[in-house]
Amino acid sequence: MDILTQDDAFAIETRQLCKTYASSGKNPPKEALRDVNLKVPRGSIFGLLGPNGAGKSTFINILAGLTTKTSGQARIWGFDIDVNPRQAAVSIGVVPQELSIDAYFSPLEILELQAGLYNVPSSKRRSMEILQAMGLEDRAHVNTRSLSGGMRRRLLVAKALAHDPPVMILDEPTAGVDVDLRRHLWEYMKKLRERGATIVLTTHYLAEAQELCDEIAIIDKGAVIVCEPTQDLLHRIDRKTLKVIPETPLNRVPETLNEEDAHLDEDGRLCVSYRRDEESVGALLDKIRHGGISVRDISVDEADLEEVFLRLTREEAHDYHGA
Ligand code: ADP
Ligand code: MG
Repeated sequence: MDILTQDDAFAIETRQLCKTYASSGKNPPKEALRDVNLKVPRGSIFGLLGPNGAGKSTFINILAGLTTKTSGQARIWGFDIDVNPRQAAVSIGVVPQELSIDAYFSPLEILELQAGLYNVPSSKRRSMEILQAMGLEDRAHVNTRSLSGGMRRRLLVAKALAHDPPVMILDEPTAGVDVDLRRHLWEYMKKLRERGATIVLTTHYLAEAQELCDEIAIIDKGAVIVCEPTQDLLHRIDRKTLKVIPETPLNRVPETLNEEDAHLDEDGRLCVSYRRDEESVGALLDKIRHGGISVRDISVDEADLEEVFLRLTREEAHDYHGA
């Protein structure tokens, strides 16, 4: 009898995953991932969010077997990629970031070849059904070279689905994709989740992660800054920052703001982060004036992703210690 260990509750689990690309020519070695601990629950859509160069593709490529890790462990559907590489590979379908497609075959042939590669018996293949789901059924027999960029991207998604893996990994599936196709892909991913699939996608669009993902990990410079349910993350993001230019320069935050998330920025502005539903600008300004500060000017910033990065990085030291 199979005994589900705690680890098997996760579609993907990494421990202390590290990757340093070796030096080449004049380029020094590059640390792309540092001690990445992530757990992706089964049946969820999980977003890996981060700016360009954060290490998202490196993470995906290690899971996909396209890049070797430097150290650490990774399990896919309970299979360690070192111990059971074959089962781990069968458990995922990967849509890579680059639009690389073998142009010598038709879309249907590409799906059939892919299914064959994974030993899916003919009776279990769903190539036409998948092409239909991706809106490519009328292109099943054309030369792949004739497909537009958007169609190629859908074909890549179809190809990753050809062996019906429990885990789908999509690297920037909607980068450079038009609005209609983006919506279409989102709807399709939700449909897959309803059918029990687990989906991991990388993106640098906060809106995309917000719309789709049950859980979001933010990664920057190879390290996970935060990993939590989307609702919790949005709760943090739903903040504004009041920026006050004082009449005379300050050397510290006044004590009347001790209870607030306040700091002085490099331009000498007093920045107070607050939640709109909990505090008003008026009340904050009162506290600032009670602190003996005369206000020359104010502005209010919406938190954007950049700011969330900065704020979470500041909090990181005492707030987050990995999984
Ligand atoms: P992302 O997908 O988040 O944009 P990547 O994983 O592609 O980030 O890259 C992370 C870092 O590793 C970047 O600094 C990138 O330049 C570097 N990098 C990626 N691939 C290689 C490689 N093959 N050789 C050397 N450095 C690489
Ligand atoms: Mg990438």
